[in-house]
Amino acid sequence: MNFASPLQNVKGVGEKSAEQFAAAGIHSVYDLVTFLPRRHEDFSDVAMIADISPGKKTIRARCEKIATRPVRRGLRITTATLADETGKLQAVWFNQPYRETQLKTGEEFFFSGEFEFNYNKYQLTNPSAEKVSEVPVSTDRIVPTYRAIKGLKSQLVRKILNELRPLMTMFPETLPPNVVEDQKLVSYADALLGMHFPKNPDDIAKARERLGFEELFELLLASQYNKQENAKLDGWHIPFDQSVVASFVKQLPFDLTGAQRRAAWEIIQDFEKSIPMNRLLQGDVGSGKTVVAGLAARQAAHAGFQSAIMAPTEILASQHAETLHNLLGSLGIRVGLLTGSVKGTARKTLYAQIESGEVDVVVGTHALIQETVHFHKLGFVTIDEQHRFGVKQRQELLKKSDRMPHLLAMTATPIPRSLALTVYGELEVSVLDELPKGRKPIATKIWSPNSAAQLYEKIDAEIASGRQAYVICSLIDENPDNDIKSVQAEYKKLQNSIFKHRRIGLLHGKLKPEEKDAVMQRFAAGEIDILVSTTVVEVGVDVPNATAMLIENADRFGLSQLHQLRGRVGRSSHQSYCYLVMSDSSKPSQRLKEIEKSNDGFYLAEVDLKLRGPGEIYGRAQHGALNLQIATLADTKLIARAQQSARSFVETGQDLLQYKQLAKQVQQYQRLTTLN
Ligand code: ADP
Ligand code: MG
Repeated sequence: MNFASPLQNVKGVGEKSAEQFAAAGIHSVYDLVTFLPRRHEDFSDVAMIADISPGKKTIRARCEKIATRPVRRGLRITTATLADETGKLQAVWFNQPYRETQLKTGEEFFFSGEFEFNYNKYQLTNPSAEKVSEVPVSTDRIVPTYRAIKGLKSQLVRKILNELRPLMTMFPETLPPNVVEDQKLVSYADALLGMHFPKNPDDIAKARERLGFEELFELLLASQYNKQENAKLDGWHIPFDQSVVASFVKQLPFDLTGAQRRAAWEIIQDFEKSIPMNRLLQGDVGSGKTVVAGLAARQAAHAGFQSAIMAPTEILASQHAETLHNLLGSLGIRVGLLTGSVKGTARKTLYAQIESGEVDVVVGTHALIQETVHFHKLGFVTIDEQHRFGVKQRQELLKKSDRMPHLLAMTATPIPRSLALTVYGELEVSVLDELPKGRKPIATKIWSPNSAAQLYEKIDAEIASGRQAYVICSLIDENPDNDIKSVQAEYKKLQNSIFKHRRIGLLHGKLKPEEKDAVMQRFAAGEIDILVSTTVVEVGVDVPNATAMLIENADRFGLSQLHQLRGRVGRSSHQSYCYLVMSDSSKPSQRLKEIEKSNDGFYLAEVDLKLRGPGEIYGRAQHGALNLQIATLADTKLIARAQQSARSFVETGQDLLQYKQLAKQVQQYQRLTTLN
């Protein structure tokens, strides 16, 4: 038997269980030994019944009495009296009638379970039970807990792994030997043994360190290689022209911030290099990223290149088109908008203009690169607020241009610096860590729903002084089953009573793109006083005259999401306000208190990371794709170590292909990580 053997060859695996394993994606011995436990429970101390205390406990006892009774449909309770030489206690199982047959033999068993106060008495709940005469796998040890496999008892999974234990000790090393040595890691084989058969907590810690390191090392190595590969590509040379930049800056209605100047300068320098730019522009909400992209597009246009700007929503695309038109139009730069709502002849004309180069800057949604849009000479691509832009999309871009265009990804998701390394490892990063002058911090206040009337007065006063407001709700349809105020109900309520004298607009994701656009246009033009909306306004929308935001059921939103939403106000020199209305008048959560206290996106991201952990936050977008099983993105020390090893591996020119398993993983990550 070897690691490639099918599971059926292992003692204890029948045809049926092999099928069940297969359904869970476990086919070979290799698959099973690398099927790692999610957690461990320490049942290694055997307690005497006389001095047992509540908690996870193991006892060594005989079963004196056992009986099963049906309680109601679908619930059968088995109760047993267990005894050792010091005393007796009761054990209870739910829907495990087979315990009767198992325990009636009168033999001595290990029982491991939670000793707790339940149904008015102390008892051992759902304990595992194994004969003392056999090698225990689910009792009397640190017991690993695996992801449930449909139809298979965890006991069986542990037994089969136990069969494979001798083979596991021979598992070949997957990391380069010098890395294992330099980092003082345990071998792969020892890590597996430490996960499946830990003798003490330290075994688990060492195993997790080793396996976590390996995951991060693979990931960081992948970004090193991506960076290398990017460096091999030919980019467009876009020469720096001082006068072009100067004339752009001069006609702006404001002075650029120091951070904007720095970021623009970094981009312009990248344009001059012979390799394509791969840069992230990270800046808190309202820090003015768009104008930086505009400046770069102006530079590109002057050198005869087209720019494409991609936004995640149509609302944002049309808003960007307008902003860029305002920024660049007077300089003779032609801006086009390509979204789903541009149809028929208008669309055909636009296609032709893009192809002939009559349009310099094309703004649109993702469709811009997916569709059959032919550019005349695409030199620069900006991706706004879009985390999913991988190698596939880059390849799409290459099809549209003889060379890889320069890429700028803009994000307001303030990823803590510690994480940026893993998530954006291969990108150059520019940070806008300064807000435009004259911005006043948004005054944020947690609000009880009981005092709604006062709140409406405050908002009405804002509107009376010429400002506008947002009211944010989270659901679209009126749903009597829950108490989340739906946006439609809220809209009707405000329009028909409280704000009868004001102009109210409604915006949600189910409106047609043209309808959304029309509402946004009217709001931006000041023809709507209060915009009642779902979170579709979350990303990027810029209406500087809006200075008040009321968020209903604020406790249901995440911290980062609240920060993003709030960023829709505070975009001018007027004082802005954000009211976080809670679902009920209970005590506000830590999350809400933090957001009330701080306007700093980076600080809030760190807090969020602590409160929820990176898996939650970067769940689908990053963490999920990264597929980290053991490592957590919060482990900055381990990340730094892995980064150091990955750098030195590449710098010393080691041959990746020499390490088969590593190479496979790295190549998989390489496809994922670029601008993900
Ligand atoms: P974000 O970084 O959130 O995308 P925007 O690019 O939408 O921010 O800019 C926010 C607002 O700030 C816009 O109305 C923009 O015109 C304005 N703005 C940008 N830079 C400056 C500046 N240096 N001084 C004053 N206002 C600025
Ligand atoms: Mg923006």
